[in-house]
Amino acid sequence: MASTYRAVEISSPGVFSLVQRKLAVPGAGQVRIRVEACGVCHSDAATVEAQFPNLSYPRVPGHEVIGRIEELGTGVTAWKVGQRVGVGFFGGEDRTCEACRRGETAYCQNAIMTGITTDGGYAETMIAEARALALIPDELKSEDAAPLVCAGITTFNALRNAARAGDTVAIQGVGGLGHLGVQFARKMGLRTVAIGGGPDKEHLAQKLGAHFYIDAKAQDAAAALQKLGGADVILATAPSGAAIGSLLPGLKTRGKLAVVGVSGDAIPVNGVPLIFGGRSVVGSLTGRAIETQDTLDFSVLTDVRPMIETLPLAKAEEAYKRMMGGNARFRVVLTMT
Ligand SMILES: [Zn+2]
Ligand SMILES: [Zn+2]
Repeated sequence: MASTYRAVEISSPGVFSLVQRKLAVPGAGQVRIRVEACGVCHSDAATVEAQFPNLSYPRVPGHEVIGRIEELGTGVTAWKVGQRVGVGFFGGEDRTCEACRRGETAYCQNAIMTGITTDGGYAETMIAEARALALIPDELKSEDAAPLVCAGITTFNALRNAARAGDTVAIQGVGGLGHLGVQFARKMGLRTVAIGGGPDKEHLAQKLGAHFYIDAKAQDAAAALQKLGGADVILATAPSGAAIGSLLPGLKTRGKLAVVGVSGDAIPVNGVPLIFGGRSVVGSLTGRAIETQDTLDFSVLTDVRPMIETLPLAKAEEAYKRMMGGNARFRVVLTMT
């Protein structure tokens, strides 16, 4: 085995560098993964553009990592060398904060964030905490599995925690998150409405399984939802607080606006539809490793796949810019060949 590996690190904010690094030995409770694919996610901007406080550089971004375990650290008993695994945004909870002590490990206040607080998957190898691993089903290609361990679980978990079979659910945005959300909603037995910006996404939304399509540029999306009887749940994926807030009146009584896309602007909440209808706005953040495994298994069971473009690791900067420019159809995945 070579003693070095290639990695793309952010050497200082905004600067991508392809470097050779020395192979690292996994510590206690860790594994080293030979990376096969890594998705490029909007949250990579946290590292690339120094959006989080106290980041240290150089740092390898990437938190949609799929690869095979090639070495186990001491004390790792639940995993074997050769298994194909995935690591998402949450790289491991601290098990000691109040959220962890209450069982809410996905909301750990001191969590390891893959590619942000530790080196991630824009690299041929990566060190990961064994407790953060999800097993990848054989039926999934590594490139297809990559977006599912972040964008996939984000939409899957938000939907299954907020909706029941037969509910009317609207997915706002048919992009990186939304194109998975529409598929999951349909496959979960939900009456599925896709909300897009323009007529061009209608055909795609129907292909992904949407029963109805609303063009938010051509009509008031909340009023259009009410014409369909109102939504029990709206899954907001588009990065616009103003657009998300305007959907609130489209909910039924007691309906929930579930927000998974972080926007730069605040979400304006009008108290009238909020109170006169007992509606609520809730946030949802990815999930635990075992729930990532649920997402992957459900995707195999019901034939949900992301739509991806692949680029080699050396083109990580191009891949990142394509995604940030909104040009990816719909997720970009780096491969290590
Ligand atoms: Zn992500
Ligand atoms: Zn914690």
